[in-house]
Amino acid sequence: MATLGNPKNTIEIIQKYQFTFQKKFGQNFLIDSHVVEKIIRAAQITKEECVLEIGPGIGTMTQYLAENARQVIAVEIDAKLIPILQETLASYENVVIMNQDILKTDICELAEIYNDGKPIKVVANLPYYITTPIIMKLFETNVPMDNITVMVQKEVADRMQAGPGNKEYGALSLAVQYYARPYIAANVPPNCFIPRPNVGSAVIRLTRHRDMPVQTENPQFMFQLIRASFNQRRKTLQNGLNNSPDIPYSKETILAGIESLGLPPTVRGETLTLEQFAALADFLYKSGREG
Ligand code: SAM
Repeated sequence: MATLGNPKNTIEIIQKYQFTFQKKFGQNFLIDSHVVEKIIRAAQITKEECVLEIGPGIGTMTQYLAENARQVIAVEIDAKLIPILQETLASYENVVIMNQDILKTDICELAEIYNDGKPIKVVANLPYYITTPIIMKLFETNVPMDNITVMVQKEVADRMQAGPGNKEYGALSLAVQYYARPYIAANVPPNCFIPRPNVGSAVIRLTRHRDMPVQTENPQFMFQLIRASFNQRRKTLQNGLNNSPDIPYSKETILAGIESLGLPPTVRGETLTLEQFAALADFLYKSGREG
């Protein structure tokens, strides 16, 4: 089977199977081998490793992964792509193809079966309509993994990497940075895919922290606080939190929490670091328990 990372071979296989692209599955296939190579390099894959690929499509990146890793697990939702994958990956014995929705897949179990529960790597050109749910599922279900290297919308990659005071900084930045260290490895223009997406894309690597960067009594409450703080971006943190139905604390307690961080009452949520959000969450959580 010829390698797929070019327009000619991609179109040939699509025509052979009379495959039609499904918008509802976010199908934009890579047709540039340089981009595929960049993703594999950014993921730092070695011959000993087990890689989960989410949404292999027709197997373009899967072929490269099979060449570079010990074991590849490819989870694809679209049943029409399975016979294509069986053809394009026929010569690789180290690839398992699964016809499943990744959001309904027990990924920890896959790591257990195929990698004895040791950390895997996750690689994907993600379907853009479910980028955040997929990434958050990987983190929140504690999948044993070293890193996630994914193609996402450029704007989403920027939000994941942004720090305090940046206009892209928000709940997604903090959620990602609580679990991992982001690094944008490449920007990718629309002409590297068929069909062409309407937006620019970027490859981002998220390296899982071995030790959490902050300790907080109740991470769920900290994220509630973070979401409430960014829901009303134009307001001061104090007013934003006071107006939020999810933050059941008086204005005085909220102000005391802000002052305990050494911050002025007029501070805006978008300037707080992860450490400051954790400290504020613990202050409020503790005062609630005492009250
Ligand atoms: N990896 C291929 C490539 O780079 O050419 C295809 C990438 S395409 C952007 C996204 C792929 O994810 C499609 O093959 C799509 O069918 C698949 N997909 C969409 N939703 C999915 C889900 N919930 N679970 C698994 N695969 C999914």
